[in-house]
Amino acid sequence: MKEAFQIGQLKAEQGEKISGFLPIDGTNLEIPITLINGAQEGKTILICGGLHNAEYVGIQAAMELADELEPENVFGNIIIIRLLNRSGFEHRTMSLVYEDGKNINRVFPGSASGTVADKIAYMMETVIYPHIDYFIDLHSGDGFEGLESFVYCLGNANDYVVETSRKMAEIAHVKYLVVSESNSGGAYNYAGKLGIPAILLERGGNSTWCKTLVEEDKHDVKNMLRFLGILRGNAHLHGMAPKQVSPVTYEDAPVSGCWYPVYQPGETFREGDVLGVIKDYFGKEVFTCYAKHGGIMMYETISLCIMKDSPMVAYGVWDEEKDGRITKECSVCGEDEKHFGEDHEARHAHKHVS
Ligand SMILES: [Zn+2]
Repeated sequence: MKEAFQIGQLKAEQGEKISGFLPIDGTNLEIPITLINGAQEGKTILICGGLHNAEYVGIQAAMELADELEPENVFGNIIIIRLLNRSGFEHRTMSLVYEDGKNINRVFPGSASGTVADKIAYMMETVIYPHIDYFIDLHSGDGFEGLESFVYCLGNANDYVVETSRKMAEIAHVKYLVVSESNSGGAYNYAGKLGIPAILLERGGNSTWCKTLVEEDKHDVKNMLRFLGILRGNAHLHGMAPKQVSPVTYEDAPVSGCWYPVYQPGETFREGDVLGVIKDYFGKEVFTCYAKHGGIMMYETISLCIMKDSPMVAYGVWDEEKDGRITKECSVCGEDEKHFGEDHEARHAHKHVS
């Protein structure tokens, strides 16, 4: 007989699925979760949606996975957090916790005596992490972010964690993979530090979601579960693993103002190319962002508003000599990437503003 699986007050017996709320101690918040106690013995995995509440593809995928996965096909246990940052969701913030304006992915390991975001992280660390062997964190581009779908795996952890995380990530049906070097701050990075293999899947952007992207997320998660032996069946592997484009250069805005990005997420460029400019409210250019190396735009701010010290661009290493892909055609004039490479004036004239 397999043991009952309990998180907080929620308890699922062998072969049972149960949904309900998990309180965040010291707050009025309750987080919707689902527990699946598989019919067979096995490992325990956490699938988390809505750590960032405006990243809707991951939230909808987590909710649908909770409904679709059935205990009779599960070996071990599955914890699904349907929506972690609930107060942010209900106030439609751009993913910051409503009560304190903090990003949950900057406060790990949390604290019981901190503000709400710290307490949410503390709950994850003390209530959820002690149970889990693996972790899949589902994200998207936020309301102000355009994003090329990709997967993060852990690079700064013990060998077992690094290898397992990479194998999980390579199952994702996305074009690119980024190896994270950070091992603190974020839910997924911190899990790695504790010895838990974890991946972070990024799919969709601009706080939009659609059935196709949700299906792709679910497809990837189910394949990872099969690969890990938690879900019955064989992982359906795609011909080509995602291509590594790390390290990633993350650049924050040095000033507030209006932001005019030049490239779309997924487009490539060369060292020294202009990635975007910040203008003041009178149209005067106050900052020009140049590519520090040839790169592929993983995600970037796409809102007209950009704030000092907030994310501006995140681009991975791309070497055109080693990579047959070329920049997409310009959606304005239809010319190819060589045109983009000629000079900055030409690029400004064909700015991709969405
Ligand atoms: Zn996110």
